[in-house]
Amino acid sequence: MASKHGLQGYVENRTDGVSVIVQGDLKTIDSFSNDILRLAPPASQIKSIEINEVKIPGFDSFKITGSKTYDNQITEVSPDIAVCPECLADIEKDPGRIDYPFVNCTNCGPRFTIIEGLPYDRPKTTMKSFRMCAKCKSEYNDILDRRFHAQPIACNSCGPAYSYKDRTKSLGRINEILQEVSAQIASGRTVAVKGMGGYHLMCDALNNNAVSELRNKKQRDAKPFAVMFMDLHTVKNYCFLDDAEEKELTSWRRPILILKQKKQLSAAVSDGLNTIGAMLPYMPLHYMLFRVLKTPAVVLTSGNLSDEPVIINDLIAEKKLMPVADSILSFNRQILNRTDDSVVRFIDRKITIIRRSRGFVPRPVDLKFNVEGILALGAEQKNSFSLGRGNQAVMSQYIGDLKNHATYDFFIESIDRFSKLFRFKPRCIACDLHPDYLSTRLAEELEKELKIPLIRIQHHHAHIASCMAENGIDDEVIGVSLDGTGFGTDGKIWGGEFMIADLKNFKRFSGFDYIPLPGGEKAIEEPWRMAFSYIHKYFGDSFDFNSMPLFGIIEKKKLSLIREALDKKINSPESSGAGRLFDAVSAILGLCITARFDSEAPMRLESAINDETNDFYPFRAEKTILFSDTLKAVIEDMKHKSASVISAKFHNTVAQVILEVSKQIRKETSINKVLLSGGVFQNKYLLEKSLYLLNRNRFKVFTNHIVPANDGGISLGQLVIASKTRR
Ligand code: ZN
Ligand code: ZN
Ligand code: FE
Repeated sequence: MASKHGLQGYVENRTDGVSVIVQGDLKTIDSFSNDILRLAPPASQIKSIEINEVKIPGFDSFKITGSKTYDNQITEVSPDIAVCPECLADIEKDPGRIDYPFVNCTNCGPRFTIIEGLPYDRPKTTMKSFRMCAKCKSEYNDILDRRFHAQPIACNSCGPAYSYKDRTKSLGRINEILQEVSAQIASGRTVAVKGMGGYHLMCDALNNNAVSELRNKKQRDAKPFAVMFMDLHTVKNYCFLDDAEEKELTSWRRPILILKQKKQLSAAVSDGLNTIGAMLPYMPLHYMLFRVLKTPAVVLTSGNLSDEPVIINDLIAEKKLMPVADSILSFNRQILNRTDDSVVRFIDRKITIIRRSRGFVPRPVDLKFNVEGILALGAEQKNSFSLGRGNQAVMSQYIGDLKNHATYDFFIESIDRFSKLFRFKPRCIACDLHPDYLSTRLAEELEKELKIPLIRIQHHHAHIASCMAENGIDDEVIGVSLDGTGFGTDGKIWGGEFMIADLKNFKRFSGFDYIPLPGGEKAIEEPWRMAFSYIHKYFGDSFDFNSMPLFGIIEKKKLSLIREALDKKINSPESSGAGRLFDAVSAILGLCITARFDSEAPMRLESAINDETNDFYPFRAEKTILFSDTLKAVIEDMKHKSASVISAKFHNTVAQVILEVSKQIRKETSINKVLLSGGVFQNKYLLEKSLYLLNRNRFKVFTNHIVPANDGGISLGQLVIASKTRR
């Protein structure tokens, strides 16, 4: 661009950003800097341009100088970028790249997943083992070429290559491979495919046997599978989507979008839910595959077994995925940083992030204040951690459930990776208040080992703080934090919390009623236990359990055991978790009696709604929020109303509770900002209803958009609270 404008000088890629020195007349420099903004590549994000006048020695050309390291500053690492249209065209016309599935340029290709260190140069990526051929080298060095300094530059003669293997043969030629994979998919088989941030398992999304078999082999009973569609047109055949959703679906991030289903794929894909997790091709190989596949949509689920992290290592993939898949499609470039496909959902026409990984990580979150040196370790499930660097939070990719061994290893390894990559040294640790979280245990070890302070932060306060941080709020707010489980300051399980909070402290104003969880963790896996527990607490032994279809299904012996546990308070910890109320109602309606995956009961309850209504059930919002009247009315409605209507009315009730308690707090404190956070707010119907009611009552409402409202966002909240409370 400088050459085009006839400017001389140099540009330097520094660890603290990009520095450009140009020599020329002011008008030209002006239009040059305007062009930087105007013609910036799609994946770039220009936050600010500073222009200063400097003394120059007098340049006779424009040069790009070598990268420099400035120790205390960091530069941002780019997330991985979907293949661009120019590169896709090259697959058909560039002589060195015909049918070459690793095309990339400065506008596209892998980044975070292949990077070892900064500054971002080829020797610090897993491309270092591939020697550039003469042609690539000349493009790499040609300032006017689209591939100038594209670190993963490669072509047919010098770059990485795919290989295919099944139980009887191996293939190395890409077109043979594509034909074979197409044949495998067409015959209902599963293929393990190495992707950008890990392996995937792929099968025909229109073949019910194939999808069911994959489910069985993956030990994944019912959790919906993500689907990759061949193009936008096909997505529109199967899903409803609006402009905003279309824009995100086709963006360079290419996340999985939760969309409303229009036409069913194989029934086994999302097992009765009315949504589809849809994504579009983002690697050259995906496009090349769809040229030969006979199906317009494939299941593309993470290549792992149940709760383990997605596999990135080729040998492990062969060992663990071969029994699940019938063949493996791999390539010889190492994946360094594991990323899952990110999952997003549009609520109230705005993006909400459910799983933050590929395409989003490791882009930092800008904050209003300094968080330098804080390491926030997050929660336990859906873990992510955050590093504080200056006024930025660098949040890790989605890690997963730390209780799983392999996931915990991934957690430890990633903390190490991020620390090296961002030249981070912790001076203070933040963790959850829960004494048994593995992240808390690690925090305690680090406290001893490094002799640095440890700050423990209440879970729901952290949820609200995550929302404050990303919305730039630093004063008192009404915090509504609804989720499944979090450790309360009274040692009980919380999750239906209304608080007055700032970034330092919080005061619990009121909360959902404490209900015993008969069997502890088991009560979370088996929503019928929650239905029993609520009814037992609210209506006592006089309630005719036989009158409800639900309890007809459950073994009599189990029922009496549970009754005894509740009466004698054996293994029945109390919880105010909002998720448990959703579980109970879902079970009462017979929508989900035992959950086969996390949040299945609330998801099925939301999915049951297909009627519009503003009606809601009675409730009592006192010091605790009591749902006895609600459940009484739900059970009464079951005699003559559909599950759809009851579910809608129930969701409306929770939204009314949020409004009512917010009003109570406003009356007492005159605070007018309401922040909604916690996993329950991934519920589109509930969040939209709550926003509508609160806005109509002139509240200023804020929700999460940059980080997940679920526990994936906890580490950001911990980070900002720690920055305010540390000494
Ligand atoms: Zn490109
Ligand atoms: Zn080459
Ligand atoms: Fe939570």
